[in-house]
Amino acid sequence: MVALSGWGLYPTVDCKLVEPESERDVARALDVNGTIARGLGRSYGDPAINERRTVLGMTKLDRVLGFDDATGVLRCEAGVSLSQVIERFAGRGWFPMITPGTRWVTIGGCIANDVHGKAHHAQGSFLESVLSMRVLLASGDVVTASRTENADLFFASFGGMGLLGVIVEATIRLRKVSTTFFKQRVFVGNDLESLMQHIEEQDAAFPYSVASINPLETGARLGKGVLSAGDHASLEDLPEKFAREPLRGNGRAFFDMPFLFPNFTLNRATLSLVHVFGQQFMTRGAAITHADNFFYPLDVLVGDWNRGYGKRGFTQYQFVIPKEDGARNLRAILETIVSARQLPSLNVLKKLGKENAAPLSFPREGWTLAIDFPVIDGLAELLSRLDAMVADMGGRIYLGKDAFLDAATFARMYSRLPQWRVAKQKYDPHGVFTSNLSRRVGLT
Ligand SMILES: Cc1cc2nc3c(=O)[nH]c(=O)nc-3n(C[C@H](O)[C@H](O)[C@H](O)COP(=O)(O)OP(=O)(O)OC[C@H]3O[C@@H](n4cnc5c(N)ncnc54)[C@H](O)[C@@H]3O)c2cc1C
Repeated sequence: MVALSGWGLYPTVDCKLVEPESERDVARALDVNGTIARGLGRSYGDPAINERRTVLGMTKLDRVLGFDDATGVLRCEAGVSLSQVIERFAGRGWFPMITPGTRWVTIGGCIANDVHGKAHHAQGSFLESVLSMRVLLASGDVVTASRTENADLFFASFGGMGLLGVIVEATIRLRKVSTTFFKQRVFVGNDLESLMQHIEEQDAAFPYSVASINPLETGARLGKGVLSAGDHASLEDLPEKFAREPLRGNGRAFFDMPFLFPNFTLNRATLSLVHVFGQQFMTRGAAITHADNFFYPLDVLVGDWNRGYGKRGFTQYQFVIPKEDGARNLRAILETIVSARQLPSLNVLKKLGKENAAPLSFPREGWTLAIDFPVIDGLAELLSRLDAMVADMGGRIYLGKDAFLDAATFARMYSRLPQWRVAKQKYDPHGVFTSNLSRRVGLT
């Protein structure tokens, strides 16, 4: 048994970890008493842990099986990470089509969470970039799933949290870029409404946008924040110093977090400093910057930054609520957070585009806020109150970040759950695939 957690280090449980190196190994390691696949463990909560049951660590299935330089179509094993994709193909002018805020994620993990990036309003979620996948089912059979073949399995796998089978291989499309640089503009909103207005305006002008607020502000300044919006830079956009190497590879983390921070380090005073520093940092963002700095700011600054929250761990609370009444509802949620005297830290505010055909995919049209909280006394009660508010507003919680949601509220939030259950019953009738998350929210 080994102790495993998600990126939030909460919860941590003992699991039987097996690390297959081939499709055949995966089939051999299937455990009828409960199996779940795990990628790079970047989900925050408990989808990739399985207490006293089997976890299949998939990162050794990391072979590239084919690439077409003319179309950008990549066939690879599911344990390949976006970081490997960038290292191998960015120099040839290809970048992931859709990417979350870290490159340390596997293709299998990106499918299972149907991850979204900073351009969801313009480009949709990871589903848009996947042509097909091969899935090893509980029966041991490997089947192909695409929009035309086993389409029910294909769509149910996006947001399906690894509960239908093990994705062993995927064929995805990459995006053609002429540089690995990014051009951005920064806008300051002095309160929530003006920040939201900036986002609405800039989303019409730029494919990528991301804002951050200071969640400790109250009253008239509640929701004060900074928006960064932009697009991939073309060769003509680059100053000479970058133009010499326009497809330059990655920016590595400046330093690694060497140890778990003691729990007393984080309090409202230190947090205020973090927010002020963070917003200054965003406001001064260069007009042309390496794509890593825009897409993966946390990867670039500090490796293993999750250890900064200490042993107790943390969670990222991410919800989306419909755009109707968005400002009023967001304000109500922020006021509830502020009055709870918890320690809200890193956060992202974005507008999401339309929902797709995957029944458990998180994104839907509206406003999404993701906000980190260390796990301290009173947090579970606050999140339960917020969950009820989000459900009443017609919104939902992102399972890729969650560690607290209960089964009844989850079912209220995901109205297409019955459709997903039909696929689960068809492809995994005996419930071989299960995880801590699936048991908590009643997916298995
Ligand atoms: C700094 C940071 C920023 C982030 N930003 C975003 C963001 O902007 N947008 C966003 O959507 N998410 C974001 N995330 C969350 C992250 O993108 C997702 O949780 C992603 O799924 C993690 O991939 P992983 O390989 O680490 O998968 P894991 O976390 O290991 O697993 C996630 C799920 O995938 C399943 N899975 C993994 N591999 C397979 C496989 N081969 N077959 C079947 N199922 C599998 C697991 O069972 C589990 O249910 C962020 C996370 C971090 C740490």
